[in-house]
Amino acid sequence: MTTLPRKHLFDIPEGTIYLDGNSLGPLPTGAVARATKVLTEEWGRELIRAWNTADWMELPQKVGDRIAGLIGAAPGSVATGDTLSIKVYQALAAALKLRPTRRVILSDTGNFPSDLYMAQGLIATIGKDYELITVAPEEVADAISEDVAAVMLTEVDYRSGRRHDMGELTAKAHRAGAVMIWDLAHSAGAVPVDVTACNAEFAVGCSYKYLNGGPGAPAFIYARPDIVLAVEPALSGWLGHDAPFAMEPSYRPAMTTERLRVGTPPIVQLSILDAALDVWEGVDLADVRRASVALCETFIKEVERRCPQLTLASPREAAKRGSQVSFAFSDGYPVMQALIDRGVIGDFRAPNILRFGFTPLYIDHDDVVAAAEILEKVMAHEIWKEPKYQVRSRVT
Ligand SMILES: *Cc1c(COP(=O)(O)O)cnc(C)c1O
Repeated sequence: MTTLPRKHLFDIPEGTIYLDGNSLGPLPTGAVARATKVLTEEWGRELIRAWNTADWMELPQKVGDRIAGLIGAAPGSVATGDTLSIKVYQALAAALKLRPTRRVILSDTGNFPSDLYMAQGLIATIGKDYELITVAPEEVADAISEDVAAVMLTEVDYRSGRRHDMGELTAKAHRAGAVMIWDLAHSAGAVPVDVTACNAEFAVGCSYKYLNGGPGAPAFIYARPDIVLAVEPALSGWLGHDAPFAMEPSYRPAMTTERLRVGTPPIVQLSILDAALDVWEGVDLADVRRASVALCETFIKEVERRCPQLTLASPREAAKRGSQVSFAFSDGYPVMQALIDRGVIGDFRAPNILRFGFTPLYIDHDDVVAAAEILEKVMAHEIWKEPKYQVRSRVT
């Protein structure tokens, strides 16, 4: 059984095989009614009273607790809001404060650029002799030394789908006295994650990929409960204050993970995310993972058999992969445009990666085989060479 019976909970256009839920999850049907209610009944009728009457003020924590359930975190240990880049910055800044005598942030060259950019920006802001060191993903373990204040890694590589061993690397970081930060952007809702067992100090992630919260949906940040009171918030906004409505002149952080909140929560988007999280009710991530592995294996087998021009750019071993499969091809961009034109939506990542995400909640075996068949036609007949597929859009 490779299908989880949840397809009916998503509004996917007829004739589309959506293999890009790793980048932007599709619309959960329940989100439309919820957004409409928030706009018309809550904002529209209740106006500012809705912060109390519609429980808007509780929503960030409620959604945080639901995400906590998907990543093995205790209730109350996950705060929501802002974007992932901001949450990366907050986790990093707090990690450096926890190790004041150390000066190195260690990451890998496969990390998503924004995570690295945020580290560079933080270092520039601090203005001391901090250093961001990036090594190849396979070399991270050996690069963890006692100079390292924070190890910041994304579990699943956004391009190749290569997956780090969270438990092993966290243990290694801790043996060297470093703080561990995991970015779960391509993990939450895709693979079973247990942040409690892995024991990392921080985890961050976004909610518009496998969690289907919609474009720009709020991010999340986990802080290990035993260190929360030692976390110094770099972005000391009023909603991370212990008593926001006391309007005190000085910042005093909340005594919980809420101290990692910053400003007013995006209620419409949070409500949509809350509705999107309904699709996970009764879903076991172990079943999702099993189904995802089967879909990925089928796709690799079908594409390799049908498209000798493409080279697998993901680890062949399922255990070393997240929930996506990438193939390299020098003209990957026009190939993806031709595929999208035929209803198979994946995406392209520079310089040459065709990327396909597998999301068993709404993708099944037949979809995977059909997608491989269409890819075969695009390659065999060189359909991608048509001039219209060469034009680059802003978002690839
Ligand atoms: C998707 C992704 C981001 C995007 O960050 P935003 O601030 O939400 O735009 C950052 N880091 C990683 C690892 C990602 O996969």
